[in-house]
Amino acid sequence: MASELIITVSGLRGIVGENLTPAVAADYGCAFASFLHSSSEADAELNVCLGRDSRPSGKSLADAVTSGLASMGINVIDLGIVTTPTVGIMVKHLNCAGGVIITASHNPSQYNGIKLLLDNAMAPPPDVAEHIKICFEIRDFFSEGPLEPGKVSVNNKSDDVHIAKVLDIVDSKAIAEKHFTVVLDSVNGAGARPGGKLLTQLGCKVIPLNSEPTGLFAHPPEPTAENLIGLCDAVKKAGADVGFAQDPDADRLAIVDETASYIGEEYTLALAAKLVFSQKTGVAATNLSTSRMLDDIAAAAGGQVIRTPVGEANVAMAMLENNCIIGGEGNGGVIDLRVGPVRDSLVAMALVLQLLARTGSTVSKLAAEIGGYYMTKHKIPADSNKVKSLIEAAMKLFPDARLNTSDGCRFDLPDVWLHIRPSNTEPIMRIIAEAKDKQTAQRYIDAVLKLTK
Ligand code: MG
Repeated sequence: MASELIITVSGLRGIVGENLTPAVAADYGCAFASFLHSSSEADAELNVCLGRDSRPSGKSLADAVTSGLASMGINVIDLGIVTTPTVGIMVKHLNCAGGVIITASHNPSQYNGIKLLLDNAMAPPPDVAEHIKICFEIRDFFSEGPLEPGKVSVNNKSDDVHIAKVLDIVDSKAIAEKHFTVVLDSVNGAGARPGGKLLTQLGCKVIPLNSEPTGLFAHPPEPTAENLIGLCDAVKKAGADVGFAQDPDADRLAIVDETASYIGEEYTLALAAKLVFSQKTGVAATNLSTSRMLDDIAAAAGGQVIRTPVGEANVAMAMLENNCIIGGEGNGGVIDLRVGPVRDSLVAMALVLQLLARTGSTVSKLAAEIGGYYMTKHKIPADSNKVKSLIEAAMKLFPDARLNTSDGCRFDLPDVWLHIRPSNTEPIMRIIAEAKDKQTAQRYIDAVLKLTK
C-alpha cells in the first residue's frame, strides 16, 4: 500500500507515481485556487507564479498544478526551473496573489512536493494551511462561476530579479577585488544557474560541480558532511577559498573551508550573522534547535535573538514582526528580509563572501572564532503522550533551566541547552543538546534518555 501523503504548513510531499500523481497535483492546485478566491474580491484578477526544482517529475506536476489553477480562473506565470527563494521574490515582484514551488527540497529523487506561498511570499499560517488541506481532502472547490479559465504565461527574468536583490545587500566591488576562487556544488538542482551567475558577478572564479539542472542527483541531496566528500576534494584540488553546497531547491547552503573541511550547516547562519552584526546591531530570529553561536554574535554586538518554533514560516513571521536584521535556521537556511522572507542560499553565499572580504580572514579562522560548540542530535520513537511525559520529567530534572515551551521544550542552562520536540511529520521525538564540549552534551543527553526508560 502506498504511504500517505504528508501535508504540513509548508505544503504537500509524497512519492512520485505512488501517492503523488498529476491528478493529486491538479486537485491541490484547485484547493489553493479556491482559497485565493475565497480571500479576494469577487472580480479580482488573480496571478500565481510557479517554479520548480530540477527533478524529472517536476514538469508534469507543474503542468498539473497549472491546469488546476487555470481551470479555476487563476492566471499562472511559469518561472521554469528556479530556486525556492526565487519564487518568493517573484511573488512580490509580480504582485502575485500567491506562489507555488514544485520541490521536495533535500529529500531523495523519488520524492516531490508542492509548496505554497501567499502574497507576502511566506508559507500560509497554520489556520490557512488547514483550510487548504481540508478543501483538498474533501475536494470542496470554489464553485461560484462561471469562471473564465486563467491565462498561462512564461517569465524568464527571475534569475536577474533575484540576483539584483542579493547584490544590493553587499559591497560587490569589495568582494570582486578579492578574486575569490569558489567551488559551487549544486547537486544538479535548481541553484547552479543563478548561483553561478551571482558568484561570477561578484568577481569570483567559479568552479561548478554537479551544475546541470537534470535532477539526477550526483550524491544524496542533503548538504551534510557525508554527502559532500566530492566538494571537499574539489576545494582541495582547486586550492579554493571556499566551497559552497546547495540543496536541490537552493534554500539551504553548507560550507567547506579553505582547508577542504566541511564546517557544518550551523555555521552558515552564524557567519552570515557575523557579517550583518558587524555592520549594525538589532534583533535576529532563529528556531529553538539552532546553535548558541548566534546568541554570542548578537550579544557581542549589543543585539538579541528571538527563538521560535522549528519551521521556516515561524522564523520568517518573527523576523517580520520584530524587524529582524538577520535570521534563519541552523540547517544552512539564511533569511535576509532585504531580499525576501525565504531561506536563500544566494543570500548566504553573498554575506559569507562579504565577511571574507571585509575581514581579510579565512573561513576556517572565522569559524574557529565563533565556534567551539558541540551539538548532538537523537531521535527516538514517541507518540505525543510520551513526548509530554518526558518533558515533564525533564522539567523536574532541570529545575533551574530557563524554559521555552513554544515547540516541545527547550531547556537553557549555563553550560548546555537541550531541546525536546515532537516531529511534525513522523511519530518520533527529537532530542538535541549543545555544549562547549562533547562530554557535557552527552552527559545531558544520557540523563534525558534515561528518563525514557
Ligand atoms: Mg530546500
